[in-house]
Amino acid sequence: MKTLSGLTQAEIEQITDELNASKFRARQIHNWIYLKSVSSIDEMTDLSVKFREELKQVAKVSDVKIKVKQVSSDGTLKYLLEYPDGECVETVLMRFDNRANLTACVSSQVGCAVNCSFCATGKRGFIRNLTYKEIIEQVLTIQRDTGLKVTNVVFMGQGEPLLNTDNVLNAMKIFNEDFQIGARRLTVSTSGIVPQINRLADLDMQSTLAISLHAPNHEIRRKLMQIENKYPMDELKKAMLNYVNKTGRRITIEYLLISGLNDTVESAKELAYYLNDIKCNINLIPYNSTEKNDYKKPSNNAIMKFKYLLEHSGKKVTVRLERGADIDAACGQLRGKVTQTSSEQS
Ligand code: SAH
Ligand code: SF4
Repeated sequence: MKTLSGLTQAEIEQITDELNASKFRARQIHNWIYLKSVSSIDEMTDLSVKFREELKQVAKVSDVKIKVKQVSSDGTLKYLLEYPDGECVETVLMRFDNRANLTACVSSQVGCAVNCSFCATGKRGFIRNLTYKEIIEQVLTIQRDTGLKVTNVVFMGQGEPLLNTDNVLNAMKIFNEDFQIGARRLTVSTSGIVPQINRLADLDMQSTLAISLHAPNHEIRRKLMQIENKYPMDELKKAMLNYVNKTGRRITIEYLLISGLNDTVESAKELAYYLNDIKCNINLIPYNSTEKNDYKKPSNNAIMKFKYLLEHSGKKVTVRLERGADIDAACGQLRGKVTQTSSEQS
């Protein structure tokens, strides 16, 4: 039994060939899956009843289950999805003031090996990579459930996308070609896996690259992110410069603000100096308390002061709004994941 979600046009044609149907049938099925987001083969009403019965013998639409769905008063939807092997990931759909934009925040792995000190996902360790089909199933599930078309995708759910790069790139190709989502409306967020950033640069990636920097210097970053010991900030900077140089694209810098730790005036100045020659926008993320640790979100005053200091250095700075604040977010980071990032950039 094949699962239609995640198949390319050519793969669907293999199925229709086996059923002795035309390539046009494959095109129709493809549209039902990606553009009209049906939940069952019976909904593919421009296929004959007879052909639908034949198709049902060999294929089904999806094998992903919605385990939990939460709706926030600001319109954010959060799903816990279950794959056939019982593993679950979270996927979030955010709406912005500009109603035309619907951003899906997808997971790339079950768990994460990077283990940043502030992140709920990292605490659980790494379980497994998601296949590209499992990644795109997240967006298809949202589309099927809401009847809406996702316009932007950000890889900011569970997992480190650049430790599963092949599947992430494959999923992005399908988002681009089959979902018809523009490359620039796709954002990959990474904790800074230097060799893989260089790989994206060589591929001349036209999607948005977001770097989770979170610190102005090596000492502070080491405390927050173990990955700093493997790929320190000076190497990360070289990779960012190479990326901008090869792709011509502006990078998004994500900076988690934690009270007293990385939100001081010195930190702002040091950060501005580090980013000085990098073509980037900065997205400040007030820390979301989700863990049993001592980190606290800075006051609004401190956030605005930090923003002001960075803006003074000539960068464009946004503060990430908290989304879905009233729905329980078991996975710390999925809460508050905004992202003007991908909708704003061009
Ligand atoms: N592994 C990738 C992508 C997933 S995390 C990465 O780290 O970039 C997506 C974003 O959520 C990252 O910027 C991460 O730092 C942030 N995040 C994690 N925990 C958070 C928390 N408790 N509060 C706010 N943002 C958090
Ligand atoms: Fe992994 Fe990103 Fe969480 Fe760090 S912040 S543990 S890289 S998911």
